[in-house]
Amino acid sequence: MKCAMVTCVSIILPMLLGRTVKYVAAAAQPSGRGVVVLIYHRVGGESGSSVDLEPALFAEQLRWLHEHRRVVSIDVAVDALVAHEDVDDVVVITFDDGTADFADHVVPALMAQDTPATLYVATDFMDRGEPFPWGAPPISWAALRDAASTGLVTVGSHTHTHRLLDRCDEATVRSEIDRSIDRIGTELDAATRHFAYPKAVHGSSFAESVVRERFRSAALAGTRPNRPGRTDVHRLARSPIQRSDGMRYFAAKARGGMRLEDDLRRVANRVRYRGASS
Ligand SMILES: [Zn+2]
Repeated sequence: MKCAMVTCVSIILPMLLGRTVKYVAAAAQPSGRGVVVLIYHRVGGESGSSVDLEPALFAEQLRWLHEHRRVVSIDVAVDALVAHEDVDDVVVITFDDGTADFADHVVPALMAQDTPATLYVATDFMDRGEPFPWGAPPISWAALRDAASTGLVTVGSHTHTHRLLDRCDEATVRSEIDRSIDRIGTELDAATRHFAYPKAVHGSSFAESVVRERFRSAALAGTRPNRPGRTDVHRLARSPIQRSDGMRYFAAKARGGMRLEDDLRRVANRVRYRGASS
């Protein structure tokens, strides 16, 4: 009885808290206009993960964006931010990691809506064909080439082995970044200009200096719009999308809201990733 009660509390309480946080965060006003960068992870819905969306929900979100926002590539958005241009209603779609479902579900959906997106890949998993630690198989290099050939997909770096760059020595930082650039350059015959920090954990000052040297932009989390004239394009804020967002909280995030949810998640993640290396 006692055991069932503990299980109940440990499962239901976080769910209730998650919903309450979303409800309260949605009530707060968006913190100003600017480029909203969305982070997705997976589409397919089979894993049961909170960041693995059903294909129908993802397609509906793309349709909503098509009707209500201007979705542009990361290069167009960075150009506009650097030039201090009007970026109201601008959204950038990004995916982290490089899992196989990107080819199976995401690319067809992007093509159906003629919508650009960026995929940040951790290249070692693709080289070895081994699943990520959370069980998702990586996209193959051939499938990534096909995705890039649509003209809709920009391929960025997410390090080589998904290392958290705030806790690596300098040689490891250089190797993690340069190997990913080298592998993408070799396999896609194209330079990669954009980077996303694994788990949105900010790098050490050395890591950040290497990232600034090698890339045109770098992305973290933060759930707020990136405002022209006030944005460091090597510290882009992004808004993570979860399956529990549905359409209501998704629309709030795409409009630049829900920052409170992100603030609380980051506090929780700091504790969660304290001893982790990737
Ligand atoms: Zn990642």
